[in-house]
Amino acid sequence: MKPSRAVTVLVVLAGVAGALAAARPASSPQTRKLKVHISVDMEGVAGTVTADQLGPTGFEYGRFREFMTREALAAVDAARAGGATEILVADAHGNGENLLVEQFPPDVRIIRSWPRKLGMVAGIDQDVDAAIFIGYHAGTNNPTGVRAHTFSSATLARVAINGVSVTEGSWNAAIAGQFNVPVIMMSGDDAAIAEVRKAIGNIEAAETKRTLGFHSANTLTPQASYTAIGQHVAAAFKRIGDFKPYKIPGPLTVEVTFKNYLPAEVLAYLPMFERADSHSIRFRAKDMAEASAIMNFIGEYRPDLTP
Ligand SMILES: [Zn+2]
Repeated sequence: MKPSRAVTVLVVLAGVAGALAAARPASSPQTRKLKVHISVDMEGVAGTVTADQLGPTGFEYGRFREFMTREALAAVDAARAGGATEILVADAHGNGENLLVEQFPPDVRIIRSWPRKLGMVAGIDQDVDAAIFIGYHAGTNNPTGVRAHTFSSATLARVAINGVSVTEGSWNAAIAGQFNVPVIMMSGDDAAIAEVRKAIGNIEAAETKRTLGFHSANTLTPQASYTAIGQHVAAAFKRIGDFKPYKIPGPLTVEVTFKNYLPAEVLAYLPMFERADSHSIRFRAKDMAEASAIMNFIGEYRPDLTP
């Protein structure tokens, strides 16, 4: 089609679309905006079991970045087929630079690297209609999950809200909930899915592998995982009205247990942190966004930060 004709056709189409939109109720699926946020971690991707897949020094990392990217793309494609009109993807693992950005369609936006406000679900706000978690893993107090940890396997032994241990999945769902965004689907190992469902309800889920231990799993192949993710994202969009935002009303109390003594001792110099026990501090936050900002600070700040 030549440009001049294309413009004419577009103008005519726009006119028709405008007339149709005027004739339809605002809630009809053809006119409704549907913005989807997809947070992508890596430990729950099919086949990942050890550091060999999870970071730039691992001998399988290059291939597993590709698998992670294609699991995210399976969710993107199914979301679009399900009615998504706008898609925002957050790279939420390791250095935040894992997803192969050139493989995404040009109308998808991608959030990369750290630090950033709202962490793994950066970009969530009132304008988002649904959230999806891909490649998620179990929390640090789970005895069976593959690479089970909460925010940092190196430094944290527990994170709890109002006395209840949380996982990255339930923490991020509560951030989304503050902005009235329901989580509709997740993928990850069986332990991760069970934990998130226990906290936030029966969302759609694609089980990418079954845990055999912290560093072992019985896994789907990458290809089978893409198919399962596509099917469960599609299923979620078919019953999108079923999912409610997961809300933890503020103010809330967060407890953080470190693997070492000194972070708890030094943070407790600040009056906002109470020393809960030898390895733990406790703080109050007015809502999940504030709790997330404080957790970000605890995780990111070092006096030798550069630049
Ligand atoms: Zn991760």
